[in-house]
Amino acid sequence: MYLAQAFAAQRRGEALSPWQVERRALRPHDVLIEIDFCGVCHSDLHQARGEWGRQLFPMVPGHEIVGRVLRAGTAVSRRRVGERVGVGCYVDSCRRCESCLQGLEPYCAQGMTATYNSLERDGLTPSYGGYATAIVVDEAFTLAIPEALPPDAAAPLLCAGITMYSPLRHWKAGPGMHVAVLGLGGLGHIGVKIARALGAEVSVLSHSAHKEQDALRLGAHAFHCASDFAAQTHLRGAFDLILHTVSSRVDLDALAGLLRRDGTLVMLGISPEPQGLRAFSLISQRRSLAGSTLGGIAQIQEMLDFCAQHGISCDIERIRMQDINEAFERLQRGDVRYRFVIDMASLRA
Ligand code: NAP
Ligand code: ZN
Ligand code: ZN
Repeated sequence: MYLAQAFAAQRRGEALSPWQVERRALRPHDVLIEIDFCGVCHSDLHQARGEWGRQLFPMVPGHEIVGRVLRAGTAVSRRRVGERVGVGCYVDSCRRCESCLQGLEPYCAQGMTATYNSLERDGLTPSYGGYATAIVVDEAFTLAIPEALPPDAAAPLLCAGITMYSPLRHWKAGPGMHVAVLGLGGLGHIGVKIARALGAEVSVLSHSAHKEQDALRLGAHAFHCASDFAAQTHLRGAFDLILHTVSSRVDLDALAGLLRRDGTLVMLGISPEPQGLRAFSLISQRRSLAGSTLGGIAQIQEMLDFCAQHGISCDIERIRMQDINEAFERLQRGDVRYRFVIDMASLRA
């Protein structure tokens, strides 16, 4: 057993406050990771505030974790003590179903074990995330963080990065494909960098005019600002692929109208409220509406190596753990360029 210092929401919507988490005694394949940095994803805010269905409290959010292996279980073979490692949005899966055997653990038929706000495979033990000084994880669900990546700016790759990389690869983004990223936040900004590095033509669709310079600096070829994309008639039929990363409701009919024939709108953002789409918006040009989440462990490693190769990491603002509630407020207001990353040294001091 290892006692980690943490920050938790004790009840739905409550401010996060100091707490202690008991990490399990090491099983043969477990590693104890001392956490250096943890990114602040909008999903942390959604869940701590109880905006999605099932939630477990007390909740220690955090699923963009980078740290070092402090101890290793007796049978650990892929990781060594002192190695820099990452943990993303899930820490286990059934490991037997078709998806798991195909390396698509987030789509596990039994449901993945999320890094927090989830139950371990025993169906009883709650999982607690990375807003903490340490975590225990099976080595099979850890990632090697390439030396070339700065550890703080690499942390958000473990959720935001893979959430963008996976659909870009699935829908074969590359030269000749016109990709639009809707929403320039944590997911969006890294999506622009990755899509550009894959060779796609990249546009940003945003409701914040002041982000234009940033969008172009991040690698977008074009920036379109609007609160009403239905009125943007010059963009109708412009894109092959739209990656939706907005955390609240948007007009899906207007968005679908921006797709060319056979184009795909991929839902990544998770608005707390349900939203509708008229059949005409799809059938008129044989368009598709899709969703996507994360990527398998092997693909996360591939994405990290791709980012290291292309010099891609996240634009971050480092914060202290004690400032997390203010950071949530700023994230809600869209006042972050483009990811908060908690420096866990602040919890050890
Ligand atoms: P974020 O940093 O807050 O970015 C969201 C962006 O959405 C904002 O920067 C803003 O971009 C836009 N936006 C926010 N409110 C809006 C509004 N009222 N109208 C129009 N645009 C608005 O959040 P994030 O961490 O990137 O996460 C984005 C969403 O993806 C969240 O819902 C999160 O839960 C979800 N998510 C899903 C997965 C998955 O597996 N599919 C993984 C991670 C996160 P502009 O200012 O440019 O418009
Ligand atoms: Zn996330
Ligand atoms: Zn499975």
